Amino acid sequence: MRRVTILGATGSIGQNTIDLIRRQKSQIDVVALTGGRNIEQLAKDAIELGAEIAVTAYDDLLQELREALSGSGVKASAGTAALNEAAAQPADWIMSAIVGVAGLEPGLVALKQGATLALANKETLVTAGPLVLETARRNDAKILPVDSEHSAIFQALQGEDIASVSRVIITASGGAFRDWPIESLASATPEQAAKHPNWSMGQRITIDSASMFNKALEIIETREYFDFLPEQIEVIVHPESLVHALVGFRDGGMMAHVGPPDMRHAIGYALNWPQRLDLPVESLDLTSIGSLTFAQPDLTRYPALRLAREVMEMRGLTGAVFNAAKERALDHFIAQRIGFCDMNVIVETVLEQLSSNEGLIDTEITLDTVREADHLARQRVDALVGK
Ligand code: NDP
Ligand code: MG
Repeated sequence: MRRVTILGATGSIGQNTIDLIRRQKSQIDVVALTGGRNIEQLAKDAIELGAEIAVTAYDDLLQELREALSGSGVKASAGTAALNEAAAQPADWIMSAIVGVAGLEPGLVALKQGATLALANKETLVTAGPLVLETARRNDAKILPVDSEHSAIFQALQGEDIASVSRVIITASGGAFRDWPIESLASATPEQAAKHPNWSMGQRITIDSASMFNKALEIIETREYFDFLPEQIEVIVHPESLVHALVGFRDGGMMAHVGPPDMRHAIGYALNWPQRLDLPVESLDLTSIGSLTFAQPDLTRYPALRLAREVMEMRGLTGAVFNAAKERALDHFIAQRIGFCDMNVIVETVLEQLSSNEGLIDTEITLDTVREADHLARQRVDALVGK
């Protein structure tokens, strides 16, 4: 039996993971499920899957979780330390699907026990790439990408020599406002931004798709995980979201990964790797799709893509600063304290302010220095917003 833990089990990726695990129930023991505020879902899944522990990230919800689990035999716990304890429980495969930088520490704990980490949480590599990869290396732990573009690149690279890669192209749908006149973006609401044309995902990543902060994080994630040079990584707009990434080789050949916009493919690939097993994923009918379209992204519409290039050049803790400024600006946008386009301006300003602080770029990346950079960036965002 394989021992499996899901960090962020109540979210969009977590629920898709549970859907797959339910189908392979006879081969899997569920160790821990973690969630945040959705206690009802967490308790329901923990009981159904016979998890050993269920953890909420919030101390004030412990009592509610205990009551929801009473008589089931599933142990309840709460808080940040409990999340880390859950990640430290011996497991073969751990899904990292907490949203935001909150996913970093439990992911590191999972790597320290040598578990295979299925990595959906892109903030892990963006904020602390070198630390995360070194932790995996030292503990002989494997990281398997789950973000669809990175899973696509990983799959296209199977059996290939990475030195023969000349370029990688990741695709972007263009998000909710792809076809909006650029002048209208300033008045876009969080509700409008949270409607993705193709993918069904959590609220935050969906809004990040509209601004392309999501793609910006993904370019940095590609750089960190595969160690390609920034100039080898390209982004193109592909409204159909069927080609997830392409890898170009020095001999001119390109491998494209094509599939329906269903995260269960990438999750299932990571769950079954190195095998490929049956997955409940639609088989594409290319003749009914007819054509696929591609376009250059407009950097005036998506300034986040330009900022990602700056982060990749500077490296160090600028990834942590960029991510934290983005997370905090997004909080303010969701709370309707700032407009959609203000997010770009604020993130760029904070990046400029903090990257001129040389210490921040040169400091060694540790969990503490990432936390410090994260804290500073959030403070700067709040100061700019006047909150
Ligand atoms: P969701 O918002 O749907 O789910 C997030 C999960 O994290 C929930 O279980 C939530 O609990 C929990 N959570 C929220 N805040 C905290 C916290 N402070 N501490 C611990 N747990 C917390 O997000 P998604 O599933 O969409 O995304 C998860 C990660 O995967 C993100 O990093 C995202 O960028 C990445 N990703 C997602 C994709 C997708 O298709 N959704 C595709 C590729 C990558 P609760 O809901 O109970 O409050
Ligand atoms: Mg993605």
